[in-house]
Amino acid sequence: MPELPEAERARQQIDRVLGREIVAVDDADTYVCRPHAPGELAAAFTGQTLVESHRRGKFLWVETAGDGPVLSLHLGMAGRIDVDRAPAPRNWDRFSLEFADGGRLALRDKRRLSRALLEPDFTHVGPDAAEVGRAAFRSRVGRGTAPLKARLLDQGVIAGVGNLLADEALWRARLAPKRPAGGLSEEELDRLRRELRAATRSAIRRGGVHTGEIIAHRRRDGHCPRCGHALARDTVGSRTTYWCPVDQPELAAT
Ligand SMILES: [Zn+2]
Repeated sequence: MPELPEAERARQQIDRVLGREIVAVDDADTYVCRPHAPGELAAAFTGQTLVESHRRGKFLWVETAGDGPVLSLHLGMAGRIDVDRAPAPRNWDRFSLEFADGGRLALRDKRRLSRALLEPDFTHVGPDAAEVGRAAFRSRVGRGTAPLKARLLDQGVIAGVGNLLADEALWRARLAPKRPAGGLSEEELDRLRRELRAATRSAIRRGGVHTGEIIAHRRRDGHCPRCGHALARDTVGSRTTYWCPVDQPELAAT
């Protein structure tokens, strides 16, 4: 599933089409383009030029020239952005733009859970997990009785962390996923923020969250790549979670 690093790579794809004039829009998929009627997005964006891309967590949006309409794209569970490629088979391109230079941008998604929207509203979305400052991270993440991992996965708290990135960041920061979020010290929260940013940067550079150090070991017979101990496994925050019980003890070190 796309997490922040995959969304950032998608944003970099969108950057390839900035400055090109849109001459046609395929918005016929009424589910992906809900609540817009067919033709509504086409009317808004035909003749426009995309000028600047943005990302917060897994949400993407693109501005058009001259304060024109804003296009919002979300990758859903399995979407990706393809630029200047031939149309996908079986209508997997759920939304697409064609440009005056003959190129195109497509939201390709076998599972049809992605979205294309006009004028997005992000008021329910927390600050980006890779950009959030130290004070905001402490006050947003470090509160409440929910397990720490559930807090990280809550997109209203911070945006962009999915199941794999959460396991990777917690393992790197040596913090147990089930500890109550409000019980962490400021030093532990700062360490978590640092490791989350480092894990995110690494995943963007290496091609996605699957490149994390613990990810290949997330299986029933998996061992910690740092100390060799068998990994623990449980459901935390409704998601299958792996951690090292030696490096990530349930109780804070005294
Ligand atoms: Zn370990």
